[in-house]
Amino acid sequence: MKVIPIPCLSDNYAYLLVDEATGAAAVVDASEAGPVREAIAREKVEVGAILSTHHHFDHVGGNEELAGELGVPVYGGAKDEGRLPGLTNPVVHGDTVKVGSAQARVLHIPGHTLGHVAYAFDGHVFTGDTLFFAGCGRLFEGTPEMMLESLEKKLGGLPDDTRVYCGHEYTAKNLEFALHVEPGNEAARKALAEVQAKRKAGNPSIPSTIGLEKAVNPFMRSASPEIQAMVRGKHPDARDQVSVFARVREMKDNF
Ligand code: ZN
Ligand code: FE
Repeated sequence: MKVIPIPCLSDNYAYLLVDEATGAAAVVDASEAGPVREAIAREKVEVGAILSTHHHFDHVGGNEELAGELGVPVYGGAKDEGRLPGLTNPVVHGDTVKVGSAQARVLHIPGHTLGHVAYAFDGHVFTGDTLFFAGCGRLFEGTPEMMLESLEKKLGGLPDDTRVYCGHEYTAKNLEFALHVEPGNEAARKALAEVQAKRKAGNPSIPSTIGLEKAVNPFMRSASPEIQAMVRGKHPDARDQVSVFARVREMKDNF
């Protein structure tokens, strides 16, 4: 499967996926119609569906316009029914969505919002605002427990070589924070240098991989002794992993 990132708004990514075996295509997170329409024209593909990760405006702003123009269904989490513009095909954890011969498994990954879903194809996962490269979304609707389970169990359960495509270009700042809470993390230091070089050259930092996230992302590393010691230095009451995770999220909110 070919994945083309489409920069939208100030720092969002929509994606155009093309199943090269059949030529079938889909859009993930139609943030705004203009840039997505241009990408579809440039690639000369026929889009058969829009896949939305969650209801926030910066991920679905182009849904109604594009779905109308293209005459295609909009998939999104069933819990987002009534608040996800253009939603025609509500999906739940374990459902499958086809793009030509490629098939995605829907993962329900609440935390940033309660209806948030990921689309996990073989080798590629679209994670919206739940898992960023080296970070995670703010807990607007969910709890730390939920977010930790979404990140470590559901997304962390995918094969390490799965490429991760997230909703925003926040990577350099995320890696700076990763090094703030875990200064000894050499993988994060190396990733930051690589990401800075990519950004300087005008390229997106994404994708990462699940394996790389496990190595550099502080929100997938709340069991790390260095992170736990750092958090407990400030919050001695943070005894279990969920409390450590919650404190790391809180520190990032104020970083
Ligand atoms: Zn969001
Ligand atoms: Fe967003």
